[in-house]
Amino acid sequence: MRRLVHFSPVDGRIWLADQRMLLVHAAAFQALRRELVASLGPEHARRLLMRAGYASGERDALLARQVRPGASLFDAFAVGPQLHMLEGAVRVQPKVFELDEAASHFHGIFQWDHSWEAEVHQRAWGPQGAPVCWMLLGYASGYTSAFFRRPALFKEVQCTACGHPHCLIEGRFEHEWPDGEQLARDYDPDSMLVRLGELQSQADALRTQLQPADDQGPLLGRSRAFNDTVELLRKAAPTQVTVLLTGETGVGKERFARALHAMGPRADKPFVAVNCAALPADLIESELFGAEKAPTPAPPPRAWAAERAHGGTLLLDELGELPLPAQAKLLRVLQQGEVERLGGTQPRKVDVRVIAATNVDLEKAVEEGRFRRDLLYRLNVYPIRIPALRERADDIELLAMHLLQRYAALHGKRLAGFTDLAMTAMRQHAWPGNVRELENLVERGVILAPNDDLVDAAMLSPPPPRPRRTP
Ligand SMILES: [Zn+2]
Repeated sequence: MRRLVHFSPVDGRIWLADQRMLLVHAAAFQALRRELVASLGPEHARRLLMRAGYASGERDALLARQVRPGASLFDAFAVGPQLHMLEGAVRVQPKVFELDEAASHFHGIFQWDHSWEAEVHQRAWGPQGAPVCWMLLGYASGYTSAFFRRPALFKEVQCTACGHPHCLIEGRFEHEWPDGEQLARDYDPDSMLVRLGELQSQADALRTQLQPADDQGPLLGRSRAFNDTVELLRKAAPTQVTVLLTGETGVGKERFARALHAMGPRADKPFVAVNCAALPADLIESELFGAEKAPTPAPPPRAWAAERAHGGTLLLDELGELPLPAQAKLLRVLQQGEVERLGGTQPRKVDVRVIAATNVDLEKAVEEGRFRRDLLYRLNVYPIRIPALRERADDIELLAMHLLQRYAALHGKRLAGFTDLAMTAMRQHAWPGNVRELENLVERGVILAPNDDLVDAAMLSPPPPRPRRTP
């Protein structure tokens, strides 16, 4: 078991298999415990610490299943108590271990010695009338529930803090306790804390989440670079100003464009996105602005983009690819609100808000004669640069968790999250492919990870970077 612990003093980390661990002074936990009891009262403090212990027990249960594959159920289960000892929490000796999975029966009694919690609690508050090994007890319940994948709960029936020679805990599946429901309530988030948590997440949501009216998902982020960008969008949204979105491939320019549309007065009108690089030069002009006579070969019979977007927003993605004749028409749309169909003579009024997006340097395209300077000036009134993912390192965890949920739902998987090692790897990666690369990686991890488990770093190993798309 000790081989699972890896001290990495050079970079200041300690690992238990792939989980990052901390070597913390018991005295620090004692100080924290004092503060919690003083500020929340003993009942809230007790439940809060139980839940913290529960979370760490759950983590160790995931590990236990990997450590001894093929061992007897008892030996596999024993990993938890052994990890708990290794982590310095308490000495554990099993007294009773009955398990009949088919009959959904579990009964376990374990003796605890040298509980750090009983020790620090007594030091702070003296002898106790009720057991105090709260985190340890939470650990036992969390570990056992996650190990058997069904709710199991422990009670501390003796505690050295109450003057007993040992601490003693007894566990059963929740349905086997007559007071199971009441015991389980200790692990429900506390009402007061829940309220605070709810208010906090509402505030976070309002701050960071702009829900565009489509299935592209919300804009998510909390990093400085992200917030600055959203602030620029928010200021532009109520106006008619033409916005030029720039940024590397894969940063999500269309998503930001949809958010801009959704924040403005045209939100209930159409949003039409046209990728200027997706159609051959001779078709893009008629696709955008229409033609009096159908071009050959004819595009699918539907209204032209500029007309479909009437009253709403027209996104021109990869604008650097727009051919020069179409650039002239676009300029006319921007300057006069008029569009002239291909081969037509009568200009038609069109009311669209134009958002342009590009990952090429338009200034350079102007110098090379591929892009009209007057159009660039017209577009460049309000440029917004979408930051690369590596400039948004603080958003990676949020985005990765969001994507995990999305892909888990899509692929019908149940996953608990990422290992600490995987999260560290994601934070350190340079993300040349930006959010799109993150999406691909997380989807791959979701597919590879076993159900009820964490996505680990190996499942995320990025494929070799693809060459950047060249216009
Ligand atoms: Zn105890």
